[in-house]
Amino acid sequence: MGEILHPSWHNYFYLLIVLSLGVWVLEIIWPWRKNQPILRKGFWLDAFYMFFNFFVFSLILYNALSNVAVQAFSDLLSLAGLKNIVAIEINGWPIWSQFALMFVVADFIQWIVHILLHRVNWLWQFHKVHHSVEEMGFAAHLRYHWMETIIYKTALYIPLTMIGFGVDDFFILHAFTILIGHLNHANVPFTYGPLKFLFNNPVMHIWHHAKKYPSNHKFGVNFGISLSIWDYIFRTAYLPNSGRDIALGFEDIETYPPSFWGQVLKPFRTK
Ligand SMILES: [Zn+2]
Ligand SMILES: [Zn+2]
Repeated sequence: MGEILHPSWHNYFYLLIVLSLGVWVLEIIWPWRKNQPILRKGFWLDAFYMFFNFFVFSLILYNALSNVAVQAFSDLLSLAGLKNIVAIEINGWPIWSQFALMFVVADFIQWIVHILLHRVNWLWQFHKVHHSVEEMGFAAHLRYHWMETIIYKTALYIPLTMIGFGVDDFFILHAFTILIGHLNHANVPFTYGPLKFLFNNPVMHIWHHAKKYPSNHKFGVNFGISLSIWDYIFRTAYLPNSGRDIALGFEDIETYPPSFWGQVLKPFRTK
């Protein structure tokens, strides 16, 4: 409530609204698929996911849970006689280089986790929610199962602790990654010129959502989160043509539940 009632630049509620409206305006004035409705298929479902994942889960529930988990984890480490697992202390570094290192390390870890979400069957059952988008638009960015928050944050926690990062004060970084993520899913034809080899972009990410992957990449292509460079280095980049009108989703998407609760409960059901 505090976040909503006391707007400021350091405020996640308004951050998400401002970035969403900004990218939405870009979609309206600069559409890639000109026939796609502004309120595309799945828009309101995604709007709900956005609210649920970003606020209810990430900011309230997960923060409360993770404080408990962080405490439990450090208690466990001190029981094992490990008081401090910081391997590199970067607090003395210039702030911009702390940000840069944090950004690159976190992005690479998430790239690996994203591949696992595609290759490990039970993880894929959760990640399918994100791939159930059939018409791409910025709000599809936050259509994902809440289990992904747990999986990504857990995978990030230990390595980032080892380089001595604080968990707070990365607001600007967070804003930047949300902006890139929104743009990756937006109906805009941007590639950022030569920067496409560094940053993920809508033209690259649409292939990640392709209904059919090429036979030599059957688990997927273009796994990048904010950076595309990992896909170029590790040869998982795939851009055969513009990809503007390709079919999105996965096989049998016709039988996938269309509702929020249907999708959230699906991975826990045996049938
Ligand atoms: Zn994916
Ligand atoms: Zn995506």
